[in-house]
Amino acid sequence: MKYELHLTHLYGNLLNTYSDIGNILTLQYYAKQMDTHITPEVVSLDQQFDPDSTDLVLFGGGQDLEQKVVSDDIQAKKDAIIRYIEADGPMLAVCGGYQLLGEYYVGADGTKIKGIHALDHRTETQENNRFIGDIKIKNAETGQIYHGFENHNGMTFLGKGERPLGQVIEGHGNNGQDGTEGAIHKNTFCTYFHGPVLARNGELAKRLLITALKRKYPDADLSAAEALEIKPTY
Ligand code: GLN
Repeated sequence: MKYELHLTHLYGNLLNTYSDIGNILTLQYYAKQMDTHITPEVVSLDQQFDPDSTDLVLFGGGQDLEQKVVSDDIQAKKDAIIRYIEADGPMLAVCGGYQLLGEYYVGADGTKIKGIHALDHRTETQENNRFIGDIKIKNAETGQIYHGFENHNGMTFLGKGERPLGQVIEGHGNNGQDGTEGAIHKNTFCTYFHGPVLARNGELAKRLLITALKRKYPDADLSAAEALEIKPTY
């Protein structure tokens, strides 16, 4: 194939709830139609994250226990991940991964789990409740509607330098209060959506792939890839 993208699946062996790994299969499915081969690699505990050899990052969701384990380990990768994000590297972070990119996440038992503060949000706990169910949002820039399934205890509040992935039309979103869902900072996209999110929202998969290709191959003519038609799958 003409193009090659190296995908890092951060803690893919620990944070992979609700088939988040399906996001990689979806990226590979659309990438093939863009003449692009994706090589996925899990980077987990005690392994190094190399921002210079990574073209795309996926960071999935999980239970509080796994998040605690990841929280301890990820501090050593913090600088490299922030460098990647600030250099416009494309990333998708789902649920637990989304929370860990922020300042902290208070788990269901009240324990404060440290994030890496790459993005400025924080996640508080809610007592004896989870936000569970189908969710639908609208992205302000593209007008695209995204569909998913949310299941989280955490209530996330956005901070400086981030805007929501979308406004909630149905469901709870970040915190059930301010009508926002997910976060965007540079080319990092965060969401609570499972489903998996990219399988149900091909336009988002396309956006990540085009961003990664443009960044890696700035002189390439990507018009065929950009013209790829995504059919709704939900
Ligand atoms: N454990 C976190 C919460 O309940 C994240 C859940 C998830 O990734 N699905 O908020």
